[in-house]
Amino acid sequence: MQTAHILLVEDETKIAQLLQDYLQHEGFVCSVLDRGDLVEPFLATHNCQLILLDIMLPAISGLELCKRIRQSSHIPIILLTARVEEIDRLLGLELGADDYICKPFSPREVVARVKAVLRRSTLPTSVTAPEKPPVLQLDKACFQAKLHGQDLALTAVEFSLLAVLVEQPTRIFSREQLMNAMYQDHRVVSDRTIDSHIKKIRRKMASICPEQEFIHALYGVGYKFEMN
Ligand code: CA
Repeated sequence: MQTAHILLVEDETKIAQLLQDYLQHEGFVCSVLDRGDLVEPFLATHNCQLILLDIMLPAISGLELCKRIRQSSHIPIILLTARVEEIDRLLGLELGADDYICKPFSPREVVARVKAVLRRSTLPTSVTAPEKPPVLQLDKACFQAKLHGQDLALTAVEFSLLAVLVEQPTRIFSREQLMNAMYQDHRVVSDRTIDSHIKKIRRKMASICPEQEFIHALYGVGYKFEMN
């Protein structure tokens, strides 16, 4: 993997230092900021490949930052939260984050998640659904999915999930298989995470093409992608 520049936004000095050491040891370039208001100016002048973003920050919260950054960028964002029960609430907010890590975490786990998210963001450059290519186009270089030529505005994680399904149309994937494809370490990812992402993808597809269903749920089994 080429050297990726990771921006770590964390105001707890000990955690920041520990993570920075680990990430640098793994060969990443890692910059640390300890205030929310420093993030956007930093991103404007530096080329980063991933952001590790703590939620509780001085000046501007991680949630607010995540929303702001998503308005103009698909850069992968991993949110750091202090409470595992908060993750469901965060998913509901549709912040566009790519993953969530709950404190206390092991630096090893964080490094594994960072690598998994980076791997997803550097997948092969294009996949098109075999039957009718113009209907759905997936451009992995920029995580852009177009349905009938219209941008679906998927988050990176939604895009990756859709890509897994589209690559093997009509194959039924269990939630477990989808989690394995999406998350290297899925211990803290619940079934509901996949369901929640699928729901959002379907809603976005339906907003462009309400008369056709692309992602089919098979109760008790999982999901498949099929174009009628
Ligand atoms: Ca904090």
